[in-house]
Amino acid sequence: MASIHIDQVSKIYDGGVRAVKSIGIDIADGEFIVLVGPSGCGKSTLLRMVAGLETISEGTVSIDDRIVNQIEPADRDIAMVFQNYALYPHMTVYDNLAYGLKNRKTPKVEIEARVAEAARMLEIEPYLKRKPRALSGGQRQRVAMGRAIVRKPAVFLFDEPLSNLDAKLRVTMRGEIRKLQRRLGTTAIYVTHDQLEAMTLADRLVVLNGGAIEQIGTPLEVYHRP
Ligand code: ADP
Ligand code: ADP
Repeated sequence: MASIHIDQVSKIYDGGVRAVKSIGIDIADGEFIVLVGPSGCGKSTLLRMVAGLETISEGTVSIDDRIVNQIEPADRDIAMVFQNYALYPHMTVYDNLAYGLKNRKTPKVEIEARVAEAARMLEIEPYLKRKPRALSGGQRQRVAMGRAIVRKPAVFLFDEPLSNLDAKLRVTMRGEIRKLQRRLGTTAIYVTHDQLEAMTLADRLVVLNGGAIEQIGTPLEVYHRP
C-alpha cells in the first residue's frame, strides 16, 4: 500500500504544448482514483509522470514521501497495465508473468509461487504454456494484469486497459480489476475516457479538461451535481 502526493505538477512538451497545468491530488492508501476526460486532456501524460516514464516540467510526485523523479525506474514500486497488453509474443504466458521477477533476481521457488497465485486469481492456469497469440483478447488482458500483480507493487497504474475489448468483456474485466485491487489493497490510478467505466470503478474521480482539474470527488458528487 502507498499514498501518492501529486503536488502542483505541470508538463510542457518540447514545442510548447502545455499538456498538464499545475495539478494537485492527494491519494490515500488503497484508494482507487480514476482520471477521466476527453482525448487530449492530459490523462496519459499525468499518469506517465506518476510512473516516471515522462519528465515532470514543474512540481513533484511523491509515493510515501519519496519523490518519484529521484527513484530509479527499476526501484519504483509501481506496475502499469496498458491497452495494448505489452506482452512478449515469443514467450509463454508463464514466462511473461515471471519476467519481471526474474529481472529482479527473485528466487525460483518464489517466482513459481507468485505466478501460480496470480494465475489462480485471474483464472489463467490452463494457458500458462501458451504463447500470447494463442489467447483471446480477454485472456491476454488477464495475463497483462497478472504481470502487474505478481510483483505485488504498492501502486497500480492503468492506461485505458480495457479499450481493446468488446463491451461485454469490458464490464466483466472492470469488475475483476476492482475486486483484485480491493483484495490486494493496492493504491490505483486508472485512466479512461469512458464516463460509465469511470463511475463504476472510482472511489474518487478526477475530471480533466485542457490539462487542468475541472472536478474532483466521488462519482455521486461529480455526476449528481446540478
Ligand atoms: P489524453 O491521455 O487525455 O488523451 P495526452 O496526455 O495523451 O491526453 O495528451 C495531452 C496533450 O499533450 C495533447 O494535446 C497531446 O497532443 C499532447 N502530447 C502528448 N504527448 C506528447 C508528446 N510526446 N509531445 C508533444 N505533445 C504531446
Ligand atoms: P493516448 O491513446 O494515450 O492518448 P496517443 O495515441 O494520443 O496516446 O499517443 C501515442 C503516443 O504519441 C504517446 O507516447 C504520446 O506521448 C505521443 N503523442 C501524442 N500526441 C503527440 C504530439 N502532439 N506530438 C508528439 N507526440 C505525441
